[in-house]
Amino acid sequence: MGKPGPDGRFGGFGGRFVPETLVPALQELEAAFVEAWADPAFTSELDSLLGSYAGRPSPLTECHRLSEELGVRLLLKREDLNHTGSHKINNVLGQALLARRMGKSRLVAETGAGQHGVATATAAALFGLECDVYMGEVDMARQELNVFRMRLLGARVMPASSGSRTLKDAVNDAMRDWVATVEDSHYCLGSVMGPHPYPWMVREFHRVLGREAESQCRDLLEGGLPDTVVACVGGGSNAAGIFSGFAEHPEVDLVGVEPAGGAAVGHGVPGIVHGMLSYLMQDEWGQVTEAESISAGLDYPGVGPEHSHLAETGRAEYPSVTDDEVVEAFVSLSRTEGIIPALESAHALAWVIRERERLESCTVLVNLSGRGDKDVDQMMGLLGDRL
Ligand SMILES: *Cc1c(COP(=O)(O)O)cnc(C)c1O
Repeated sequence: MGKPGPDGRFGGFGGRFVPETLVPALQELEAAFVEAWADPAFTSELDSLLGSYAGRPSPLTECHRLSEELGVRLLLKREDLNHTGSHKINNVLGQALLARRMGKSRLVAETGAGQHGVATATAAALFGLECDVYMGEVDMARQELNVFRMRLLGARVMPASSGSRTLKDAVNDAMRDWVATVEDSHYCLGSVMGPHPYPWMVREFHRVLGREAESQCRDLLEGGLPDTVVACVGGGSNAAGIFSGFAEHPEVDLVGVEPAGGAAVGHGVPGIVHGMLSYLMQDEWGQVTEAESISAGLDYPGVGPEHSHLAETGRAEYPSVTDDEVVEAFVSLSRTEGIIPALESAHALAWVIRERERLESCTVLVNLSGRGDKDVDQMMGLLGDRL
């Protein structure tokens, strides 16, 4: 997984489909990122923050009891143990550091379930930057706790009140804000999506995850690598991060798991949304449809363009799992390993559980992208007395 082409394409996907007014801002951002990423002072400051603030490296955990139950050797990359509870901190620390280097004093972000908003507000607090987070009105009502967290961290939460009042409307509002405020603001996009250079830059900020995992696997497996690497896919950032550590090894299978209600690669068609050309879910009229799954964090109707490319070239596969399978995986990991996973991450695990016969005796690395504390309330409502 290298650099995209000069026009920001991964194969035929990606690009920069934005209004003229945004092009200079994206060019400025690309130039600043290229320069910073080649500057050891920038990368070493980021590495040091990832260690002293985010808690990296995250451990690799071998799941002895669940492995035995499944007949698969299961390893977990523990992004759930990072500060703020997921992989998202890698990206926001990188972008906040870049924003400061570019002389920007404000971060704008979009959020769906609120997790990226909380991570951005966290980085803004750390660097003393102003922070405005756009969030669909419907999502604000569904995710009250994260709205309060963002406010507690000093951010303003801006309701997105157009369209379906969910994530895709929040992205549109955040982009519109950025066009008008680009002098002093940086748009801190939350996944490997949007116009070039975001899909590439965000993947690079998550590369640390794949690099660590590859080296931890080498240590544990006496120089070997897992047979299969599995991650859940919303926009695709945690998957891109872990895939980047293994993509150069053709013997390692890469699997990105989508929710059945938001299978952009599995059931979508190529189209343009949020400045990129990629697989997305559309109705027969070409309207982008709403994704819907048990985990709000995966409810994105599209997927990052590099995943579309990995799917088209056959380097990675993108199956989907149902909400019921996810709930079963959520309970299984809790009970066998004492780890409550984020519902998003439980998608990756659910695929392993379903495919255990095909994976018999294989070593499988699952990216545990986040912890499940945020989902316990929802699961209590769903499972109630059944446990
Ligand atoms: C946000 C989130 C995701 C989905 O985002 P990607 O960009 O697809 O990684 C997955 N897992 C957790 C825990 C998240 O918070």
